[in-house]
Amino acid sequence: MYEVVAMVKQLGILTWFMTLSCADLRWPELFKIIAKTKGNNLRDEEVDALSYHERCSMLNLNPVIVAKHFQYRVETFFRDVLLTNANPIGKIVYYALRIEFQMRVSPHLHALIWTSDCPDLTNDTKDAYIDYIDQHVQAYLPDKETDPQLFDLVKTYQTHNHSKTCRKYKNVACRFNFGQFFTDRTIVAEPLAEDMDDKIKSNILTRRKEILSKVKQKIDDVLNPSKPTYDPHATPTDILNDIDITEQDYQWAISLYPDSDYELHLKRPIDSCFINNYFIAGLKGFAANVDLQPVFNHYKCITYICSYFTKDETECSQAIINAAKEAKEANLNVRDGLRKVGAAFLSTCEVSAQECVYRCMPELWLRKIFPKTLFVSTDFAENRVRFAKKQHKNLMS
Ligand SMILES: [Zn+2]
Repeated sequence: MYEVVAMVKQLGILTWFMTLSCADLRWPELFKIIAKTKGNNLRDEEVDALSYHERCSMLNLNPVIVAKHFQYRVETFFRDVLLTNANPIGKIVYYALRIEFQMRVSPHLHALIWTSDCPDLTNDTKDAYIDYIDQHVQAYLPDKETDPQLFDLVKTYQTHNHSKTCRKYKNVACRFNFGQFFTDRTIVAEPLAEDMDDKIKSNILTRRKEILSKVKQKIDDVLNPSKPTYDPHATPTDILNDIDITEQDYQWAISLYPDSDYELHLKRPIDSCFINNYFIAGLKGFAANVDLQPVFNHYKCITYICSYFTKDETECSQAIINAAKEAKEANLNVRDGLRKVGAAFLSTCEVSAQECVYRCMPELWLRKIFPKTLFVSTDFAENRVRFAKKQHKNLMS
């Protein structure tokens, strides 16, 4: 953790927060590899014919192969796509990678990425920043006729469907913010002038909220492909006319931001309000769900660094809640109560089979940082602490 904090201190705000997921159930080559280890050569049509149950069973019984395959895929993708002169997400100069395992057993990769060619987002460089973002991130459903491969990939991996994980916070319909607003160009939403009268400011922000809440509600009703009320032919004019909002008012509202910082609305046609950000080389090269988020202010930087470090441990949280409840019911004193909670925390870490593989095999890494960091104590010489480590004897000798 200190390494990444040191990187942000030294290198400034990162350019991208990227997530690469594991689509192991859909990677035919992985099933061919697993079958080959048992002496079977599966043909393409045999892989296609595997049922969901057969696929799960093959993956669950072979965590070592699956973990090594994911690792190989990530390394190849960085070497042959991201770090080449093609610079699909800009000229990468530094990165910090972390493999994480959530409730599903399979891994995914979080990456903090710094590039050397991304302009900072300031009032004077807004247009240059928007150009840079438009060159590298997409948030639209491509044309089925001109690029059927990309169309299928976006449909399969980048379409957001609301699920129970969307409603993690009270009063927030979807914490991932879907359906997103439609706009025919990328917009940097700006805060109101700091010296504006508070009353006027409050009125403006209330009006903005009214407009955007109505549009959001309409988007969720009419533009969500998984709802029966979905209308594939709706136009922006239809949507806004139905809720009695003019195009100018909508443009005005999405160009404002209530906080003291900027916000970004990516160019997104009306049929793409439920399409998650992606980059073409990522989707074509990695063939799984990819997420590329621009990071342009301190707030976003902290948010994404927290996502980089934290892990959802539902079972562990539940064990801690139960321990606290039991301690209260048993009327334990504070010291014994805390001891009980501490024991629950230490004994219920969630580890999947693939995570065990990652932790056991030295060639698999869970963290990778470029450049490597070296910690130097800058305290007075007399205050520096050194530990002498015992050298292990070679067990074979
Ligand atoms: Zn959602």
